[in-house]
Amino acid sequence: MSNSSSDRARVNSDYFSLFQDFLQNYVDDYREKKYMKRIKEMLFHEKKSIPIDYEDIARYSDELLLALDRDPQIALEALSEAIKSIVEGIDEKYAMKIRKFYGRLTSWVRPTPIREMRSDLLNKLVMLEGIVVKSIQPKGKLVKATYVHTLPDGVQHEFTWPPDDRELEEMERPTYCPKCAAELLEEEGEFLRRGSFRLILDKSIFIDWQLLAIQERPEDTPPGQPPRSIYVVLSEDIVDTVRPGDRVTSIGIVKLTRGNRKMSLLHDLYIEANNIIPAQRHLEEVMISPEDEAKIVELSRDPMVRRKIVASIAPAIHGYWDLKEAIAILLFGGVPKHLADGTRIRGEVHILLIGDPGTAKSQLLQYASRIAPRGLYTTGKGSSAAGLTAAVVRDRQTGEFSLEAGAMVLADGGIVAIDEIDKMREEDRVAIHEAMEQGSVTISKAGIHARLSARASVLAAANPKRGRYIDNLGISENINLPITILSRFDLIFIIKDIAEIDKDRQVVRHILDVHSTEEARAEIPPDLLRKYIAYARKYVRPRIMDEAKKIIENYYIELRKRSAADPNVPLAITTRQLEALIRLSEAHARMALKNEVSAEDSLEAIRLMNTVLEKVGLDVETGMVDIDIIMSGRAKSFRDKEILILEQIREHSKRGECTKYSELEKIAESLDVDHTALEKIIHDLKKSGDIYEPKTGCYMAVEE
Ligand code: ADP
Ligand code: MG
Repeated sequence: MSNSSSDRARVNSDYFSLFQDFLQNYVDDYREKKYMKRIKEMLFHEKKSIPIDYEDIARYSDELLLALDRDPQIALEALSEAIKSIVEGIDEKYAMKIRKFYGRLTSWVRPTPIREMRSDLLNKLVMLEGIVVKSIQPKGKLVKATYVHTLPDGVQHEFTWPPDDRELEEMERPTYCPKCAAELLEEEGEFLRRGSFRLILDKSIFIDWQLLAIQERPEDTPPGQPPRSIYVVLSEDIVDTVRPGDRVTSIGIVKLTRGNRKMSLLHDLYIEANNIIPAQRHLEEVMISPEDEAKIVELSRDPMVRRKIVASIAPAIHGYWDLKEAIAILLFGGVPKHLADGTRIRGEVHILLIGDPGTAKSQLLQYASRIAPRGLYTTGKGSSAAGLTAAVVRDRQTGEFSLEAGAMVLADGGIVAIDEIDKMREEDRVAIHEAMEQGSVTISKAGIHARLSARASVLAAANPKRGRYIDNLGISENINLPITILSRFDLIFIIKDIAEIDKDRQVVRHILDVHSTEEARAEIPPDLLRKYIAYARKYVRPRIMDEAKKIIENYYIELRKRSAADPNVPLAITTRQLEALIRLSEAHARMALKNEVSAEDSLEAIRLMNTVLEKVGLDVETGMVDIDIIMSGRAKSFRDKEILILEQIREHSKRGECTKYSELEKIAESLDVDHTALEKIIHDLKKSGDIYEPKTGCYMAVEE
């Protein structure tokens, strides 16, 4: 379609020959003509672009480098034409078929932080690193329009617009017919005298086009500040190569949006991408030098290394040893398993803190997200429309539906600290199950279907439902989260603000110390700790050894046996806890960079699990550990009483009578069930559809 000689007229001929020379003659370290090889590969695979490495250009010619730096638009255009001219020499037919070839830069001088995008970079080539936070579905963009010019006598001319080698910039109407040179006079929408012009979409040329937004990476965002983002436009073969949540590097030219009419002086910067490259997933962003590695290995040989790590977690916060150890375990994480049938057993450890206000929960979360090599701090409400998982939202810029990644997707491969998780959006309440267990978010809305990766460890905090944690209510009554979500946490900690003079004095002194010296000494400097964690996550994959297996097995069987022997003993543990124990043991081994999970690791995992089960899973009435409290929200003893009360209502219902509240009160009293508990039982029975309230304060059983 395009006429190559006229195309070339527009191209800067100096740049064109420089690039032609570079492509034809650049020889790499293997003495191969690297770019001729790439062009031939491109032809073989019927592609239309080749990667161009910045280092090669820099090595080959200062002039080319300068050209790309000074006027990248013109230089890249010349590069396109140079590729085309070489293709013409190899396969003329293919050169005719492809409208435009692209040289896609794989890198540029240095990355520009998204935060530092300013107007002085306009029309410059930049390289940005960020995370794709939203993407709008690919579109066809009109670049060459075909029109039919119909003269009053019925004669028709077909022509393309723009008539030169330009592409359409905006939706411009033709001003004349290139075939007969008749000018187009438009008056009140009517084409006068010289006939009419009609756009023929079928015969026009469209290219693939897509709009994305990329956001600075959590590790680049200054603490306490909202992350910045920028729009990126992709076209042709790089469309649809990245998804929300992907970490990418994009090289492109800084442009200005057209702006809206009302405020025409203000325009946003955006990037017209020459290339976008997804980072290899799980590529560790923390740079570890050989000196760092020596320090890391030395530290791991210290017999006290784990104590030192735990002591270095939020040193400004006094106490909470077990909790800090659990946070350390979460930061290191277990090893994910990929089974032959395609299922994945997660390695991410999830921890929930439920606690009274002012017990340093938020502080701990913020610290953990800062020390984690890839950490993100957010609140249950989320810091964007996408919340904790993902959302399909209408983009303000374009009015289109776009897919936006939420916190767990952005923290893929790292940890996400979710403060006030009990306040999360309804959509997240549904989607977070999949995110926490399978490490993915599936979304299907407004014609957008996608599955995003969300393998993040969750460190969450919640305030008790009634302001303070009430001991004799059991966990699910104290928190505004469904059991299905609670049961996905490997460990749940309850933090109560109890006045204990000795402890209080220590805390006060500690806080005063921190405030007066403005430092909390960590045994391991935060920078080294972060590198240590990154190193462990990357290189250490501990395997469970027989001794450790035996210990876990015995513990599991022992607890199950107790329930099996006596139906009155509640179920203490399920396979969920078993998997959690394995993860915790692996993470504990990782903390000392051990490749084998040994007895000490599984014993410590069991110790942590026990403290949690005792506090959280404790049936407040019988004092026995009851996993049902976490797993189903109700202790066995409570459920037994509920059944007795339901039986009473059923008895009455059989006689066609409803049971009055006052009668239930009497029964409750005999069962030692207080008012709050009775209200709850009635509420639950109504919710489960066992009873209904035909008139206020009187209950009937639904027929079985
Ligand atoms: P929460 O999120 O649990 O409501 P915050 O994290 O906001 O609590 O903590 C409130 C303040 O109390 C913070 O400044 C925190 O540093 C301080 N604080 C609470 N408990 C401790 C502690 N054990 N040691 C040191 N500081 C503490
Ligand atoms: Mg808080």
